[in-house]
Amino acid sequence: MIYREEKQPQIPVNHCAWCGSYDLGIGWQQNEAIVTFRRNGLLGNRLKYVICRNCGAVLYQYVAEPWRFPPAE
Ligand SMILES: [Zn+2]
Repeated sequence: MIYREEKQPQIPVNHCAWCGSYDLGIGWQQNEAIVTFRRNGLLGNRLKYVICRNCGAVLYQYVAEPWRFPPAE
């Protein structure tokens, strides 16, 4: 069993690049936007979004468990 780092990396944004607000929110994309590990797979990660609560811009998006995805060839 390969050790996996469990904690999430730091979110690389702390303010909105568009309006300058530091009031950010975290959102989970539901069902439709699950990113699967395999082409026809049902297992996947939901996308997580960092959203500016002031202007609504999506500043960053990432999956919950990136290590489960195969490396790009
Ligand atoms: Zn903003």
